[in-house]
Amino acid sequence: MSEPTKKPANFIADIIEADLKAGKHDVIITRFPPEPNGYPHIGHAQSVWLNFELADAFGGQTNLRFDDTNPETEDIEYVNAIKRDIKWLGYEWERELYASDYFEQLYQWAVQLIKDGKAYVDDLNEEEIRAYRGTVTEPGKASPYRNRSVEENLDLFARMKAGEFGDGEKVLRAKIDMAHVNMKMRDPLMYRIRHAHHYRHGDNWCLYPMYDWAHGQSDAIEGITHSICTLEFENNRELYDWFVDNLGIEKPPHQYEFARLNLEYTITSKRKLLRLVNEGKVAGWDDPRMPTLSAQRRRGVTPEAIRAFARKVGVTRVNGRIDLGVFEHAIRDDLNFRAPRVMAVLKPLKVVITNYPEDQVEWLEAPYWPHDVPNEGSRTVPFSRELLIEQDDFMEDPPKKFFRLAPGREVRLRYGYFITCDEVINNDDGQVIELRCSYDPATKGGDAPDGRSPKGTLHWVSATHSVPAEVRLYDRLFASPTPDEGEEDFITHLNPESLVVLKNARVEPSVLDDPADTRYQFERQGYFWRDPEDSSEDALVFNRIISLRDSWAKRAKQPAPPRSSSKPKPENTRNQSQERRDPVAELSAVEKARFDHLNQRFDLQDEEAVVLAREPKFADLFLEAVAAHDNPQALANWTVHELRAATSEPSALPFGGAALGQLVALIDANTISTRIAKDVFEEMLNTGEAPEAIVEKRGLKQVSDADVLVPVVEEILDRFPDKVAQYRDGKTGLIGFFMGQLMRETKGQADPGLAKSLLQAKLGA
Ligand code: ATP
Ligand code: MG
Repeated sequence: MSEPTKKPANFIADIIEADLKAGKHDVIITRFPPEPNGYPHIGHAQSVWLNFELADAFGGQTNLRFDDTNPETEDIEYVNAIKRDIKWLGYEWERELYASDYFEQLYQWAVQLIKDGKAYVDDLNEEEIRAYRGTVTEPGKASPYRNRSVEENLDLFARMKAGEFGDGEKVLRAKIDMAHVNMKMRDPLMYRIRHAHHYRHGDNWCLYPMYDWAHGQSDAIEGITHSICTLEFENNRELYDWFVDNLGIEKPPHQYEFARLNLEYTITSKRKLLRLVNEGKVAGWDDPRMPTLSAQRRRGVTPEAIRAFARKVGVTRVNGRIDLGVFEHAIRDDLNFRAPRVMAVLKPLKVVITNYPEDQVEWLEAPYWPHDVPNEGSRTVPFSRELLIEQDDFMEDPPKKFFRLAPGREVRLRYGYFITCDEVINNDDGQVIELRCSYDPATKGGDAPDGRSPKGTLHWVSATHSVPAEVRLYDRLFASPTPDEGEEDFITHLNPESLVVLKNARVEPSVLDDPADTRYQFERQGYFWRDPEDSSEDALVFNRIISLRDSWAKRAKQPAPPRSSSKPKPENTRNQSQERRDPVAELSAVEKARFDHLNQRFDLQDEEAVVLAREPKFADLFLEAVAAHDNPQALANWTVHELRAATSEPSALPFGGAALGQLVALIDANTISTRIAKDVFEEMLNTGEAPEAIVEKRGLKQVSDADVLVPVVEEILDRFPDKVAQYRDGKTGLIGFFMGQLMRETKGQADPGLAKSLLQAKLGA
């Protein structure tokens, strides 16, 4: 693992630490226990992360155990998918185990319980058993077969195993208490008959253990010390404990539950995901819109991003839904530092530069990285008479705020020249098919000697040199944040625009030199990589991994359509904006009062004020933070997006609002950059230390002292005399290259604004 091994900040880690201190265990053993009946998804990743990281942090071990007790739905295909995906996430299990290998031992244990008078064969059918169980408010009643003799039970159970009875004819039940307050304890099923083929044991068995009978004992057999599962099994714990207790198993494992990960706009039920596959709503388990790990991998998301997301979400005991923005943020954060910037035009419009010589081609220097990413490197891009720009970057009759190309208007072509649109050529339908422009030869590299600067900068490619590509724009699979809540079938919430395929895109030729798994930022478009299945050298296919910004958040900010209580909701809600709800209107009276109060005191974004109004604990923390440092906008942002992603329970944080205020104060004083602040924040979550102390200890201070930076600048210019000459020759795009060097030298700590002006000053000299 690239992350440092340190104690994760969660309650299970605290328990483990205490257990170790108390000498309860020598070695911590956890396990990830999937049922091989589907492909692992992002929720499983959370559980994988938790089990492996916890054991790792305490020098322990993690096993992979397949809970494969149900022959009908399990398959080796899923076993292989699970193994592949865990490895891809970056984890190595200690042992590979199968609950089905314990079938014989479990059978012997069942016989033991029968002999002890603690289990019996029941002839009631499924429906009767349910009816006899009672309800939460009424006790159940005993089955007429409950008092069969031990001998009869042993005989019947042996004959069940031998295949004498049909499916569902008889079951084995534990004899506990039909009036128990915990419904799980009302004589739960241990075995049922299924004449079915098991993917590992063939037709050896027709008697299959229930999950509840197998699960706890499997953990016990393997010496699991901390058996971690999701909250829906909280009530089962008592039953697991009863089984191991009554079997006399020593050192039984203890179970700890945490809240399942639920993500907005996503479903994580394997059954429902299977339906999407079977009904052809997606192209398969690895369709890049699916929440499965195989799909995310194909889409281009990295395992590092998934682990960062898991860490960010952390562990709580409170069920809720995580804002999809948290996941997308983790993906962007990861790609920002690994994806070189290149240019691609997704919907091309031809531009002819009429005053550019017919046969001339210039290969212009273009840095791969923006100034704030401390990576280096550049490529050249061909500039020629015929170019392509994005159709959306031109308007014949532009509104006021449109700063891109329009008749008579000048724009900058990134790393190229300034061009002015002189003539628009339309086809018979009035569609714009070509622009005739002129360029200013004095603006090579994107700067004018007279200092003029057009408002718009466009990406572009050379029409003759660019490479054709198909581009697949993936978006959220569902249009509703909670597709599986409510009355309707979740299928009705599919987002009709979750996949848009563009067949005529063009990419700059430099990509042909790169390894096939390179992830790019197509400038102004988003992050992309080649589809690992469908892309080939002569037919490129790019998947959009993620857009640059959250376009959905923007949409949500648009004023909601007027709400009328008398008119029924329109039937057809294909249009996203119609479907978005107005969050302010949905606040309760108390929440609305809080919302108004916050708005009166501070000028906050509605979106953030709504969250604070709904979640008073976070609002309190925010107020504490503002008291420590007066920047309510930034603090609301941190509270809503970072703190809430870290925990759902602010009182569980190892620091208070004042510390958050201090952190933002460090940014505002230019002591650290926002990016460094995120690292500091991570460490605050882990250690509870004050931001100042972390910055000091780890030497993270941003350097905004010119006296410190000037020698570094000079040293870099000395080192690259050729590049300096090229810059002075007009290749001012090289500024990115120099910034990259400077950031590297200063380990990303140079104040970017100051660094750039120092570089420009020295380079201009
Ligand atoms: P099923 O409904 O089929 O049991 P499942 O998603 O629980 O579905 P399992 O194969 O039993 O599937 O899950 C393996 C492990 O992953 C279990 O420990 C389970 O608790 C955990 N897990 C499953 N879904 C999530 C989730 N959304 N968030 C966190 N952990 C999860
Ligand atoms: Mg499960």
